[in-house]
Amino acid sequence: MENDTPTEAQDPSNHGSPDEIGTFADLGLRAELLSALTALGYEEPTPIQRETIPLLIEGRDLLGQAATGTGKTAAFALPMLERLAANGRGPEPLGLILVPTRELAMQVSEAVHRYGRDLGARVLPIYGGQPIGRQLQALGRGVDIVIATPGRAVDHIKRGTLPLDSIEVVVLDEADEMLDMGFAEDLDAILGATPPTRQTVLFSATMPKRIESLARRHLDNPSHIQIARATAEPGEAPRVRQSAYVVPRSHKPAALGRILDVEAPAAAIVFCRTRHEVDSLTETLNGRGYRAEALHGGMNQEGRDRVMARVRSGNADLLIATDVAARGLDIDQLTHVVNYDVPSAPEAYVHRIGRVGRAGREGVAITLAEPREHRLVENIQRVTGQKILIEKVPTIADLRNRRMELTMATLRETLLDDELDRYRTIVETLTDEFDLYEIALAAVKLAHEASGADLEEVEIPDVSMRGSSDRDRFSKDGKPGKGGKGKGDKPGKEGKGGKGKDRLSSSDATRLYFPIGRSSRVRPGDLVGAIAGETSLTGRDVGAIEITENFSLVEVPSNSVDEVISAIKRTTIKGQKVTPRRERSGRD
Ligand code: AMP
Repeated sequence: MENDTPTEAQDPSNHGSPDEIGTFADLGLRAELLSALTALGYEEPTPIQRETIPLLIEGRDLLGQAATGTGKTAAFALPMLERLAANGRGPEPLGLILVPTRELAMQVSEAVHRYGRDLGARVLPIYGGQPIGRQLQALGRGVDIVIATPGRAVDHIKRGTLPLDSIEVVVLDEADEMLDMGFAEDLDAILGATPPTRQTVLFSATMPKRIESLARRHLDNPSHIQIARATAEPGEAPRVRQSAYVVPRSHKPAALGRILDVEAPAAAIVFCRTRHEVDSLTETLNGRGYRAEALHGGMNQEGRDRVMARVRSGNADLLIATDVAARGLDIDQLTHVVNYDVPSAPEAYVHRIGRVGRAGREGVAITLAEPREHRLVENIQRVTGQKILIEKVPTIADLRNRRMELTMATLRETLLDDELDRYRTIVETLTDEFDLYEIALAAVKLAHEASGADLEEVEIPDVSMRGSSDRDRFSKDGKPGKGGKGKGDKPGKEGKGGKGKDRLSSSDATRLYFPIGRSSRVRPGDLVGAIAGETSLTGRDVGAIEITENFSLVEVPSNSVDEVISAIKRTTIKGQKVTPRRERSGRD
């Protein structure tokens, strides 16, 4: 790899100057792809897309370091679709995307399908746990792009049902996770079965030696893209209170509503990734009683001016916007910046939060992160040299307390006001019948209810960042099945499988008994894959694995035991229904 040509992500100082930010059309994508992106509400490429797409269209191999949330899926999928359109479809697949889990296989497949909508691209996810017959039928009908987990891809290759002779592009997505899950040999086998003339793209969130060696074996003079490295100087970000909340996607609108209720910003801007997100969040927040205004690139100048006038005159308290639409806007009275998603690059974060905390005023930056996005948050902290505090989403009880506080503050203000005399007769009349204290309570109740404070609230689950340093976690030290493969014949000794530096203490881990073993050809990757694919855990959360002839023992974090058991019961491993249970002390 001596001839590598390293390229860097866009200079962060460029962020915000419209002249230097290319559009998707500038990247050389055809009209059918541009129309699909517009329909999805994407306004401009993310830094990784800007860097990667032209290189991939040129046909280069690529080694990219990028985490989830950077927009990497579109970065590799769009050039693949561009190639499909240019070369025309054949009877056999042209693109193969390998991903670690079935969850990701479905997610990537859905994304590729949406990007390739106007090209009529035929996309198929294949993963363990789904009946192979259905996959065979789909493959038989003809497919352009296959998204597969390595184990299932190898199964198909052995059966001769996944034709690879026409493959022009192979993508290894989240390659470090795939290696962590023990798929190294499978990856070598799959890549070995594809034509040597193929283009190979490898994305990984981390770049350990094993990834470099995988790249050396399979990539040809690749370009390097490292989106994690940025040139923003530590301390460049303004001094604002910065916090992040970890929230599953489906609970984000409710969580944001609650956070805003507690923060009670005087004026806030909420950044979203797409136009659709802007529109639907504006509707949700208006339904919650806020005066929210949407601002995005799909609006004409007149509409935008109207919105800005309402914001500047204080007739709107929330502005919900995309980066593109908010570029260049200066709003004096802003107190809060909210990132409804973690920005795809640290530079965008710095740029956004630079809108508050000016001229000695207090500013607050709030970021909503999904559990998978911990790397993006860590990266922002590293680049800015500033701490982002991970906070808990306010509970229903917090919210009630806060609303009581607000009612009390309103009452206090009213008491200080001397215009109360006109109500004197009411109170005096009531005192004939009721105690003064009781009358006060009834009046407070009315005031509280009139403020609309008793909204229906649903519980929002308390989740933590996946793999975040903020919580204990397992690490497989890059060696899945440690204590498993070949050593699994003597289960039962505590601590077998090793307690690595990062490993949970045994009090945090529980061993689960899976009634499936070597006789069913189960490998550590199958167990880790099923757990990572079906639960909120990642491969790294799974601890030591021991596989014996007829059963396996798998360490999982104690607080996830119930989740793992019920998720595994709903799926299959190696085609079998499996009901795990807590390991009994006497053993089976
Ligand atoms: P990924 O890193 O590929 O998992 O993408 C993270 C999220 O960003 C996904 O929800 C994508 O739909 C979204 N996304 C990707 N590219 C863009 C873009 N250029 N503009 C807006 N959203 C995007």
